[in-house]
Amino acid sequence: MTNDQLISVCGAGGFIGGALVADLRAQGYTKIRAIDQKPLDQWYQCFEDVENKVLDLQLKEACHEATKDAHTVYNLAADMGGMGFIENNKALCMLSVLINTHLCMAAKEAGVSRFFYASSACVYNGDKQKSYAVAPLKEQDAYPALPEDGYGWEKLFSERMCRHFREDFGLQTRIARYHNVYGPFGTWDGGREKAPAAVCRKVALAKLTGKHEIDIWGTGEQTRSFMYITDCVEGTQMLTASNYVEPINLGSAEMVSINQLVDIVEEIAGVKLNRTYQLDAPKGVNGRSSDNTLIQQIFGWEPSTRLREGMEKTYAWIYDEMVRGKKSL
Ligand code: NAD
Repeated sequence: MTNDQLISVCGAGGFIGGALVADLRAQGYTKIRAIDQKPLDQWYQCFEDVENKVLDLQLKEACHEATKDAHTVYNLAADMGGMGFIENNKALCMLSVLINTHLCMAAKEAGVSRFFYASSACVYNGDKQKSYAVAPLKEQDAYPALPEDGYGWEKLFSERMCRHFREDFGLQTRIARYHNVYGPFGTWDGGREKAPAAVCRKVALAKLTGKHEIDIWGTGEQTRSFMYITDCVEGTQMLTASNYVEPINLGSAEMVSINQLVDIVEEIAGVKLNRTYQLDAPKGVNGRSSDNTLIQQIFGWEPSTRLREGMEKTYAWIYDEMVRGKKSL
């Protein structure tokens, strides 16, 4: 595509959508439409030289407005959050099905050339994620289906919606299964934050108040991998521009336990905290990491930002936000 073809970013007021818009601008794309349901002053990143629209994309008419004349549509809009949110809001998570369904219908009618859908590692079969020392998840581990209840089922269904729109109607859909994305300009408090941001906030609070304590959800032994935002944005665009049509992992293969994640942030902040474990708090599966064999085979690339490096930038941003007295959304 050329730099003057229209790109619509849905969910642009959110973490990944905002980062994608910023990156597209930096690359010199001149026609960007940014859409989110939140008022503009609540977007993490908002740019005056972009066509910003406040729309509820659960509504079909709004999706027509979002996709009109677009060459590429990125669907990054969803009602979502970390485990604390998705375990307690299954119906709200499933209602995001309206966003992707209406966007697919509108994109087909608008003759969109490329349609990207942000799926998740939450589509993977729970039985494959019972051990802390889990084998990294391969793309075929999504079936037989036993995804995360609510949020994961919606993602798996919407993946298939994209597949069938491609097979039956020729809409060129591309699907990435994101594994835990983190970085600056995202949610860090309020109940929707994910583990890396929550740990940064808790450590920063301990540092600022001098109360050297931290509560950790679960045993702290649960394992995950975390992908830095710049890798996510790069991989998303690479996949969207490619001819690869099957769902593919987009995640880091650097697996750590939550305790190790806390170690890293403590080291960055220069503090040591007393840890309390909340065993009844939402904690998700015991182990999850990304097998990157396929993305390496297809693209000769995988997310490579080391966790320590990405967490330094994330911690610094959250710390500054807290010092400035800012609240996340
Ligand atoms: P986010 O919550 O920061 O951004 C999502 C945005 O969608 C929000 O700004 C929200 O206001 C908007 N939105 C929700 N409902 C809408 C509606 N009806 N109409 C218009 N806008 C609406 O989340 P994110 O981290 O940027 O995630 C982007 C996408 O990536 C989502 O689909 C999410 O499920 C997926 N994903 C994210 C992660 C992660 O770790 N962040 C992991 C796996 C998958």
